[in-house]
Amino acid sequence: MPEFLGPVKGFGVTFRQMFRKVDTVEYPEVKEPTAPRYHGRHQLNRWPDGLEKCIGCELCAWACPADAIYVEGGDNTPEERFSPGERFGAVYQINYLRCILCGLCVEACPTRALTMTNEYELADDSRESLIWTKEQLLAPLLPGMEQPPHDMRLGQTERDYYNLRSAGVVAEPVLAPGSEGEAGVPAWTPGGRRTSVWGGTGLMIMKASKNPELAWELAKYLYFDEASLGQRFTETNIVPVLKDAWTRPELDAPNPYFSNQPIGRMYAELAPDTPPIYSSPVDAVARAKLNEAFSRCLESYKRHGEAGLPGTIRAELARAAADVRRMADRNHALAEAE
Ligand code: SF4
Ligand code: SF4
Repeated sequence: MPEFLGPVKGFGVTFRQMFRKVDTVEYPEVKEPTAPRYHGRHQLNRWPDGLEKCIGCELCAWACPADAIYVEGGDNTPEERFSPGERFGAVYQINYLRCILCGLCVEACPTRALTMTNEYELADDSRESLIWTKEQLLAPLLPGMEQPPHDMRLGQTERDYYNLRSAGVVAEPVLAPGSEGEAGVPAWTPGGRRTSVWGGTGLMIMKASKNPELAWELAKYLYFDEASLGQRFTETNIVPVLKDAWTRPELDAPNPYFSNQPIGRMYAELAPDTPPIYSSPVDAVARAKLNEAFSRCLESYKRHGEAGLPGTIRAELARAAADVRRMADRNHALAEAE
């Protein structure tokens, strides 16, 4: 391009934008809905009978990188019960001057007490009003809920609440032919702890489903139809979870991105040697504590070099492990599940 046309080219982006449709929203008169998973302000959830899900374990506060959460646990008594089980969140505060809405606290919460809403209008002109209290964060009472304190209405014990079937929240599961156990999630060893996942997908047919039979047919098609599982592997590179589908020819197809190796077959052959991966509600805390230990060791190395470094590493790892153990011991829900 001749040099004199350079400025014209430079303004090209400007001119192009000038003639595009303007996408301005007249906020606050007009409010566009956010993306469904938008991280807005937090909410402390309730059980269907109105009891609070928060057990005051502080895992959210430990996981928060901004130190924005303050929790004080309290003891439920037979006369005054706010949550099922032993403990409840007596004081709960989130400081929105600090919060970066990252959602790590939600990941850490073992009871799904803490979630995030799509509400984003959090600005205010006083510091005090940006520290939200438990009363502000608690989910509203829906029809059928009762303001705590009150007795457990969904079962005799705390365990009944975590078993949603007995609480009547979801229908009895229909298990795949040949699968065993009281819930649809397997234990890897007989009598072992049931599977938990860091990420994954699943299907649940709700009690309120209008056509559970049809939903079950769809679930069977998605999980057990070998031909469609093979086809989906071709489209997504995701190896089917159904072992019988590993004989599908699609898994043998060479993949040009991976130097024409048949990655489906290679994954399937590796499967028997893959060790089980355990996850736990204190994973997030454990990771945070390991990072903390690493930072402290690095700091020690910067100051003192290698002198005393092995001892520092051992001490920091022991401190991190003790912290995680202490949090796990305080986590009543986890102790119940084991
Ligand atoms: S969203 Fe992130 S910053 Fe905000 S309270 Fe939760 S963990 Fe802390
Ligand atoms: S992690 Fe969940 S249950 Fe524990 S204090 Fe926080 S909100 Fe409550």
